[in-house]
Amino acid sequence: MLKREQWLHLARKLDWEYSYVREEEVFPEVISGHPWLPHAEWQEWEEAFKTSYREYVDNQYEKDSAVYAVRDAVGRLKDVQKLAIPWINGLKMHAAVLPLAEFTGVTGNLRGARFGRDSAWRTMATFGALDEFRHTQIPLLLLHELVRWDAQFDWTHKFHHTNNWVAIAVRHLFDELTMGQNAIEFHIATNVVLETGFTNLQFVGLAALADKAGDHMFEKMVTSIQTDEARHAQIGQPVLATVMKHDPAYAQYLLDKWFWRNWLLISILTGFSMDYLTPLEQRPYSFKEFMEEWIIDQFVRTLDEFGLKKPWYWDTFLEELEIYHHMVYASAYTYRATLWFDCAVPSPAERKWLRQKYPKYWDSMAAVWEQIEERWRKVGPGSENEMAVHGTTMVTFCDLCQLVLCNGTPRKNAANTLVSNGRKYIFCSEPCRWIFLQEPERYANHQEVVKRILTGEAPARLPDLLTKYFQLTPETWGKDMYSGNYEWLSGKTTGTVSE
Ligand code: MN
Ligand code: MN
Repeated sequence: MLKREQWLHLARKLDWEYSYVREEEVFPEVISGHPWLPHAEWQEWEEAFKTSYREYVDNQYEKDSAVYAVRDAVGRLKDVQKLAIPWINGLKMHAAVLPLAEFTGVTGNLRGARFGRDSAWRTMATFGALDEFRHTQIPLLLLHELVRWDAQFDWTHKFHHTNNWVAIAVRHLFDELTMGQNAIEFHIATNVVLETGFTNLQFVGLAALADKAGDHMFEKMVTSIQTDEARHAQIGQPVLATVMKHDPAYAQYLLDKWFWRNWLLISILTGFSMDYLTPLEQRPYSFKEFMEEWIIDQFVRTLDEFGLKKPWYWDTFLEELEIYHHMVYASAYTYRATLWFDCAVPSPAERKWLRQKYPKYWDSMAAVWEQIEERWRKVGPGSENEMAVHGTTMVTFCDLCQLVLCNGTPRKNAANTLVSNGRKYIFCSEPCRWIFLQEPERYANHQEVVKRILTGEAPARLPDLLTKYFQLTPETWGKDMYSGNYEWLSGKTTGTVSE
């Protein structure tokens, strides 16, 4: 029998010349991507893993078995019930946003599996598609058991099929990133920017956090998913290297665009988890520290390796690290009935921790929480008072990222407007406006939630919007985790005075 190294290269490199069609017809630029180059420019395409199908199946089988073993040992309903309430709500948040976003990654990878420009690339993208199936199925399976205990876990599957405002924003991102994308932009945006840039290390960080929080099922799940990502994220690098060689300005554009788009969502998910939804005594680091120590250095190193520059808005991004997810969390708490998980007011001890970790802008955030605290003190605890401590006026959303206008600081919001083709647009930040202006035809006709209300597509009254459009129910919509019943609230000290 032939040895692996005798046949693997041949099996990976199965490109041939076409006799009755042109290469441009087999790989049209519109779906294979820009720059369009003859195969000769791609034939050196290689990545580090060089897995065969047989090895792939053996490996994945073992990884799945390990996940099931951990599930049977420590991943049952009774184990989840023992976890801290904030952590369980962080679990609900991740569980809803990620599995079906992973599923869109199947489509993106299959685009590479057909329209990638070299056979080795197409083979790896096929494994990438199988990986993303697995990343969809594992969380759906593991969390299914929890639905009968807590109906909010039903959103693990339901979320992406609703018009909930967060789902609209998440779909807006992933539909562009993975579903409606050509092979080149998909692999650069997903493998290089999202996976190598953020999630690969973020999964390691989340696993460490889960370990501290005692959630070994979640830890095992993200670790197992991360090992797939570490492999298929390698597809992006040789794609980017070739694009850099032929059109470096375009490579820089893709990087600048996708770093910003991915950053906004990651900062919300990971920022909420690390700074609010992990119990204080179990937090190993703040989100900002995590970003500085794990993500930013290695991202800048990747840019250097490819001869790319930092995105033009880098200073804005570093400012955002101080404040953006705090603004979104305060907004999420204020409008918690629009979510499918519960939120809590940070305690005086947590606010003290947040002040130490985020000295630059915490004063203005503290003022927001003092107002909320005052409101609870006035109306008294109890689920019947939820709506007395809740926003009533409609917030506004960004015409690019579809998220609430929470960029800038409480004193100076970064929202800005644009009139294009007679229509007025609003953006949460300069980079969102810049992305819109690069490809207006891609974004111009999408309507954020407020415009849907104005055109009558979505109901204007908040209770109708929640139930009829966001598909929540009084049972599932987000509440204060403790119904305003905080030990520290009943005493005389406030969040500020106790410092
Ligand atoms: Mn994945
Ligand atoms: Mn992936």
